[in-house]
Amino acid sequence: MSSPKIKKTTRIATRLDLRRLILVLTICSALIPFANTFYAGYLVQRQQLIDTTLEGHYAYATKLARSTDDFLQSALQQLDYSAKLMAGHMDDLHYLGEEAARLRLQTKSFNSVTVIDQTGYVLATSPETLQIVGKTLKSAGVTEALQAKGPIISQPYMAVTDNFIIFISQPIFAADGQYLGAVGGSIYLKQESMLDTLLGSHFYQDGSYVFVVDKNKHIIYHPNNKRVGERISNNEAINQVSQGESGKTPLINSQGIEMLAGYAVVPSTGWGIVAQRPKTVTLAPLNALMRSVLYKTLPIALLMLLVIWWSARRITSPLRQLANGARAMDRPETAQQIQSVKSWYFESQELKKAMLRGIGLLQRNITKLREDVNTDPLTGLGNRRHLEAAITAFQAEKMPFAVIAIDIDHFKKINDGFGHDAGDEVIRQLGRQIREVSRADDAPCRVGGEEFLLLLPAAPLHSAAQVAERLRALVEHTELPTVGRISVSLGVAHWPDSNDDIKTVFQQADAMLYAAKRAGRNRVEVVPPATTAR
Ligand code: GH3
Ligand code: MG
Ligand code: MG
Repeated sequence: MSSPKIKKTTRIATRLDLRRLILVLTICSALIPFANTFYAGYLVQRQQLIDTTLEGHYAYATKLARSTDDFLQSALQQLDYSAKLMAGHMDDLHYLGEEAARLRLQTKSFNSVTVIDQTGYVLATSPETLQIVGKTLKSAGVTEALQAKGPIISQPYMAVTDNFIIFISQPIFAADGQYLGAVGGSIYLKQESMLDTLLGSHFYQDGSYVFVVDKNKHIIYHPNNKRVGERISNNEAINQVSQGESGKTPLINSQGIEMLAGYAVVPSTGWGIVAQRPKTVTLAPLNALMRSVLYKTLPIALLMLLVIWWSARRITSPLRQLANGARAMDRPETAQQIQSVKSWYFESQELKKAMLRGIGLLQRNITKLREDVNTDPLTGLGNRRHLEAAITAFQAEKMPFAVIAIDIDHFKKINDGFGHDAGDEVIRQLGRQIREVSRADDAPCRVGGEEFLLLLPAAPLHSAAQVAERLRALVEHTELPTVGRISVSLGVAHWPDSNDDIKTVFQQADAMLYAAKRAGRNRVEVVPPATTAR
């Protein structure tokens, strides 16, 4: 019987309780939108940063492409101006040297300036330390210039001077249109040059950098000088720019680093200018920002958790106490416990009221059941169980008591003559009369069909005999509605005066009752003094 009960309690104990339920629910409903907002915010900011950076680098590359173009155009113009001056002085080597020096030093556009005749023979240089005057040059730049007989900007190549250079030149024509040679300026790509001034001085302080490639994807400018001349493949921006496209793109560079790049083409040369910045450097401030948002939100979030926890406790506390009460409804102290529950909201108050009502009912029922168990339903007097309880109590208190045994005379005849119901009514009536003659402390009991016992605590034998006689007379003189008059026979004994043994005392009372029957009924017989123990 007890095992299902145990099972039930453990099941209740392991089940999720309301407080945890509320906590989980509220924390989830607060945390999930927060995490979502936080993450969405992060994504939006990140995309914005990437877009802004791409846009900025694209604009920057475009601007640099334009200024590089401007620079190349003005270099061509400067050379053109000098070419026109030199046309009339091709045999004056001193003049040519002076003009070459002026061109280099005044404009600062070139690392060196060279004047050649129509065969590539060097007439003058600046600086003179080049020591190529009097030599005939066959380099790519010179060859291109002599073939073009017009303005050129060469592809980068290795010069006789052992420099990686770009050669920019203008033709020299005589007044009659005869081709006399060319004046050219070299830009040394691996040394400090005009390109550094143009591209490097605008260098961002934030991890961005600019580099330039020619049409064939060779680096012609890079903040890291050592990389000049290197050919770059596998770079999306450079692939695009070498096809004459300008734009912006995230990419992974030849070193495997994620970059955000803007790129633009220099129209006059087809060079590509790439401005780029590592993605991690771009996103670094965002991480710091998100961390700071988190730190600033954390105290409020903790406070909120505390409030939720406290509220959940406040809400569930009455219900939890009521639930504990519900598991111990049969205990007498439960009503008190439930009474003390602070039910501060409607539902808990109604539950509390209902439980108190329920407990009241339950406990009244239990009391009544307990009484019923000891009560004879027909007469409302005590039954055998009540008799035994009374005897036990008297014994425990060492309370002396008298016993009156009562039996209705010729009851069978009443039953037979007037029916069972009339007999019952006679029994009920006798019950009332027994109660009438007894005191509050006495224990009147119905112990058989029409047999009764009346215990009179603290009553001496003779008093009990008087009570018995009073009852007999009362019954005798009472006119009952259906059956008319009846009579009873009674036997009286006393404990411990009649006998020390309680069982014997009851047998004596019974024996006296039968003595009364034998003596003609409607009488009282008392244990004679001779049979008393003392
Ligand atoms: P006596 O004077 O010798 O006592 O004769 P009696 O007829 O009363 O004999 P007894 O006491 O032996 O009779 C008991 C009868 O009581 C038997 C049964 O029919 C009747 N009886 C027992 N219990 C009840 C009851 O609860 N209601 C009714 N109506 N009759 C009962
Ligand atoms: Mg009887
Ligand atoms: Mg009888």
